[in-house]
Amino acid sequence: MSSIQCPACKESQEINVSNCTNCRFPFTGSTQEKSIHIAQFINKKNVISDAEEALSRSKKILFLISGYNFLFILVSILSSTIEVDVFSISINLILGLGFVISGLLLKKSPMFFSVFPLGMIIGLYTVNFILDPNLAMRGIIYKLIIVGSLIYSIYLLQKAKTFNKQFSV
Ligand SMILES: [Zn+2]
Repeated sequence: MSSIQCPACKESQEINVSNCTNCRFPFTGSTQEKSIHIAQFINKKNVISDAEEALSRSKKILFLISGYNFLFILVSILSSTIEVDVFSISINLILGLGFVISGLLLKKSPMFFSVFPLGMIIGLYTVNFILDPNLAMRGIIYKLIIVGSLIYSIYLLQKAKTFNKQFSV
């Protein structure tokens, strides 16, 4: 059995196939069709690696936010002389755990564990804003960066998904 290397994905293919079984490279297509395929294939690889980078960034952000929640719990316990604010500690514990779990499972189910913590963050900021607008405005740039970065990562994931549908690799 003689084989040929696919010019796009470099997989070994049988010599008589008309399309690469891995990336659908058109072996029997025109030169133009072949170049278009290769261009799209390279573009797709970039889209995928962008999405992977975004995931690593989101993971760091989620761990950072959960660290902030746990720090809050620690500080409230250490600094309260009379009674501990059980309500805010519980809220921070739930959020902190939610962010840690999202960060840990992010690569398993990227879309869900990007949208879920984003929902928690936006919900939290909204409640903060309703309760105390002045307090909510504190660190607003930091908050915007977090929200913006997570939204951007969701956008990149969606883009990679669309490319994956177009090209089955
Ligand atoms: Zn191929």
